[in-house]
Amino acid sequence: ASGSDDNDVVVLGGGPGGYVAAIKAAQFGLKTTCIEKRGALGGTCLNVGCIPSKALLHSSHMYHEAKHAFANHGVKFSSVEVDLAAMMAQKDKAVSNLTRGIEGLFKKNKVNYVKGYGKFVSPSEVSVDTNEGGNTVVKGKHIIIATGSDVKSLPGVTIDEKKIVSSTGALALTEIPKRLIVIGAGYIGLEMGSVWGRLGSEVTVVEFAPDIVPTMDGEIRKQFQRSLEKQGMKFKLKTKVVGVDTSGDGVKLSVESAAGGDQTTLEADVVLVSAGRTPFTAGLGLEKIGVETDRVGRILVNERFSTNVSGVYAIGDVIPGPMLAHKAEEDGVACVEYIAGKVGHVDYDKVPGVVYTNPEVAYVGKTEEQVKELGVDYRVGKFPFMANSRAKAIDNAEGLVKILAEKETDKILGVHIMASNAGELIHEAAIALQYDASSEDIARVCHAHPTMSEAVKEAAMATFDKPIHI
Ligand code: FAD
Repeated sequence: ASGSDDNDVVVLGGGPGGYVAAIKAAQFGLKTTCIEKRGALGGTCLNVGCIPSKALLHSSHMYHEAKHAFANHGVKFSSVEVDLAAMMAQKDKAVSNLTRGIEGLFKKNKVNYVKGYGKFVSPSEVSVDTNEGGNTVVKGKHIIIATGSDVKSLPGVTIDEKKIVSSTGALALTEIPKRLIVIGAGYIGLEMGSVWGRLGSEVTVVEFAPDIVPTMDGEIRKQFQRSLEKQGMKFKLKTKVVGVDTSGDGVKLSVESAAGGDQTTLEADVVLVSAGRTPFTAGLGLEKIGVETDRVGRILVNERFSTNVSGVYAIGDVIPGPMLAHKAEEDGVACVEYIAGKVGHVDYDKVPGVVYTNPEVAYVGKTEEQVKELGVDYRVGKFPFMANSRAKAIDNAEGLVKILAEKETDKILGVHIMASNAGELIHEAAIALQYDASSEDIARVCHAHPTMSEAVKEAAMATFDKPIHI
């Protein structure tokens, strides 16, 4: 691997940002090397993030449905049991198949893959401590930093990945905890809380802020929280964790109101710390080459993803913007397009966000609160899945579609969907937003019947005119 022969592009990190950038660069005919320390490609997302969490969300959903919903459809079992080891094995198989798939894509596209920890020795040279034990220097005209992010710890709460776990530990518990406390009501906490809640844990979510998932539209958020509460999830909002005691059998968590006041103690078998993620640049040698970072350690880049050091770029979770896999991928493609002398484009205002609970919540564009803040006159169109024939046919009618459009022009400003498959439904809204469509544009597109997508069309009709079915 590598050695003295120069690369056009070197990518540090093989997550969704890095591996996509590497493949794209190679597709442009650039000589490309990707350096990854993990021993597997796919980064946080594939190994300990998006993919294993979705595997467990699906498996736990199947169990929950078998227990609580199948009988309504006339499908009866004498008993339903969880085989946690088998559930974890299916998750692990999905992950290893996909990581090997990326290795295959590297071979197919002739991306050189170096397994090891890379650090800058100059703006065009990376010294790699290889996983096999040696050291090699990889040179490149353009070096892309795609080192991603890591779990953010809380002061005084030490993660041991047994009783106090990060999302990584929560994806690999060997027993179903009787009581699980989740610190942080972001999407990762709610997804992992859902997994274990469905499998039988009593789940309490502790959040410092007054609301769950701060990026969500307020009206949708309220309905979403109610739905999670109906499923048994408990919320302690505006609550601060002040101490943790793991000396006994379980964990004792001392909490108090965010505003201060009396302490109370919550008890759990496992505590999940999901209070955000932090850019990962440890040991990278950024200071050595003078790459600028901001207050929280994110690498600063311009619109071409170039850092202040010529020839050094950064993409994905390690730079500002939504910390999402698809955003990292878009960054990667656009960055390489610029390097190849073409034009790239990523609009962070149009990156969809999805919470993969049940129901899912998906959104793109502005929330109603943001639209109000902009001071634009706007209309709101809503359509509930209760009035959607497909949703009723399959007895899965929780949720709604909400569209916000500018009053004067009818241009769509934001779309918010709560539905079992919201993460799939959101993309026609993403396209509409990208093409500056009006709600009437969506309403005039023929949507197949009976589909849940018809609710998007009806919500669009409700925005500029009237819906038919409600
Ligand atoms: P990463 O995926 O973090 O990859 C960076 C890679 O760089 C790592 O593999 C690391 O080992 C490597 N690296 C770091 N430093 C070095 C070095 N010096 N030398 C060599 N290699 C190095 N996002 C979504 O969009 N959808 C989801 O459903 C979703 N679910 C998630 C669930 C969980 C539990 C978590 C934790 C995250 C989830 N995310 C999700 C977020 C998503 O994983 C990240 O946004 C995404 O992985 C960022 O990609 P990246 O390429 O920037 O960084």
